[in-house]
Amino acid sequence: MPNSIHVLPAHIANQIAAGEVIQRPASAVKELLENAVDAGASEIRLIIEDAGKSLVQVIDNGKGMNAEDAVRCFERHATSKIGEIEDLFRIKTMGFRGEALASIAAVAQVHLKTRPHDQELGLSIELENSIVTASTSCTCSAGTSISMKNLFFNVPARRNFLKSNIVELRHISEEFLHVALAFPEIAFSMISNGQEVHHLEKGTLKQRIVQVMGSSYASRLVQVEEKTDYLNVSGFIGKPETARKTRGEQFLFVNRRFIRSAYLQHAIVTAYEELLPQGSFPFFVLMIDLDPSHIDINVHPTKQEIKFDDDKIVYAFIKSAIRHALAQFSIAPALDFELDPSIQQLDAVSKPFTADQQQQARSGGLYKTFVDHHQAHRIESSSNLRNWKDFFDTAPKETVAAPIQMDALIESKTISCLHIQKTYIAVETSDGLRLIHQQLAHQQVLFEKFNAAWEGSPIPIQRSLFPQAIHTAPSDESLLDSIRPDLLQMGYELESFGKQSFLLNGTPADHPHENSAAIIEMILEDIKDATAGLHAAYREKMAKTLARKHAIRAGTSMSLNEMQSLIEQLSACKQSNVHFDGRPIYMHIELQQLNDVFGS
Ligand code: ADP
Ligand code: MG
Repeated sequence: MPNSIHVLPAHIANQIAAGEVIQRPASAVKELLENAVDAGASEIRLIIEDAGKSLVQVIDNGKGMNAEDAVRCFERHATSKIGEIEDLFRIKTMGFRGEALASIAAVAQVHLKTRPHDQELGLSIELENSIVTASTSCTCSAGTSISMKNLFFNVPARRNFLKSNIVELRHISEEFLHVALAFPEIAFSMISNGQEVHHLEKGTLKQRIVQVMGSSYASRLVQVEEKTDYLNVSGFIGKPETARKTRGEQFLFVNRRFIRSAYLQHAIVTAYEELLPQGSFPFFVLMIDLDPSHIDINVHPTKQEIKFDDDKIVYAFIKSAIRHALAQFSIAPALDFELDPSIQQLDAVSKPFTADQQQQARSGGLYKTFVDHHQAHRIESSSNLRNWKDFFDTAPKETVAAPIQMDALIESKTISCLHIQKTYIAVETSDGLRLIHQQLAHQQVLFEKFNAAWEGSPIPIQRSLFPQAIHTAPSDESLLDSIRPDLLQMGYELESFGKQSFLLNGTPADHPHENSAAIIEMILEDIKDATAGLHAAYREKMAKTLARKHAIRAGTSMSLNEMQSLIEQLSACKQSNVHFDGRPIYMHIELQQLNDVFGS
């Protein structure tokens, strides 16, 4: 038997290893920004072309590298930051693995220019497939510039895995934001396709938050500051009433490293306790600083997780720091005229309608679509059911069963129905009885309506007299901007208003809803992970979200007219028996089944 094992050539081994570190343009952005921070830069510029697919460049005014280091930095495990394993527990730098530049050089074309401050000439080095292809001395500004071109040019399979520019750019913005929030004393700018999208002066953390999140945040912040021997907690949390429906705006840093920790997030949210509307998430930028010997950052290659030697203590500290901050804030609440009415109404999204809201909805289009098709005289005839006998007697006996049973119902022109537990509509059919779930039925009706609007005519718009302002996270701004035409098709007219704000000028005319901002937030959240090119899938998702949000809820009273109209609309659906999420919309009971039960 011939030998079958061979050692991989270096460039292939490098490409494989690079997969751990560089998954997408945003991973390179993170690594390069962190290197610039580690180099002591006070000014860092990020330049992006084509969502980082053709170029990611980071220019810093840090300490630079001498000629020898400039070549060596691209070797695997080349680092100036640790020397022995114990150093891992003394780490003050962002990087330490010595893998980033080696990985980048394995999967992209790299151009490095660097000059230490005490030297006149710098060095320019170009690499391809981890091999130096050009190296000359050059005149360049002190510090370092690294450009990474054509990511995955030599691994086409991985290039194909990249998502749409919108999605990749969002990941980049997130990484940029994390580093920018962690280091407010450094000036940052970000230029995408020649346009400066961020220009952040050095300043305090509060100034940085306002710079990146938008000026509306200035009045939303509560300061947190708690110092102990073991750890310090500092930063800002959002006032309870500014909490959002999504977790997008939560930033936790440990020794200036952005981390994700469901456990510590829990500590923060529980500290708010009843102050938060149900199902909403507070904004926070929290810095936890402690002796590096208490943590192990060697957990995950992309280093967003971290181990503490005693995470219960950290949990307790954070919780009490937040409670303390909130208590001080509520003892002396600042005058605040910025309470966003749409967010105060968040409850309304998750709870059934109140009588008032129902009344309000009645005067709107939702009710109209229910009643338009019906004449008043039919209400009385079947709503006064004297007994079960009457119920059966009104059956449309002569109707022939059609392939879709609902059609048969409508043709009969006499829909007898009964509201059960404000959730089910019992309706008589030619061969028995049907229990329709009102919420699922209405969702299906609306889903088909919104979905059809993609092809046919757009949903009519009701213009608002007083347009509502909608604020987004900075990383969501371009995403929301890009789906404005789609939202318009669905009846939502949004106008870009600069600095992460939009004006909602109009909403779907036939479907009033008391919290359009929450709906738009949901849609944004839905499509964030939409795969590039799968436009149809994301449009369908949008229609589903709108249907869920606009449909009448279980537990809501319906008049006979409303029920009849709903049944009519359901019967006109392409798919009237199974909900778009796969659940049945109604249950059918044949008369024969009933007869069997009673032995008649
Ligand atoms: P690590 O950051 O884990 O050490 P990297 O591959 O990111 O590994 O970088 C390797 C080395 O190259 C760093 O340890 C540092 O000495 C040097 N280096 C990288 N980027 C810069 C920069 N922008 N300025 C100065 N030195 C740098
Ligand atoms: Mg590094």
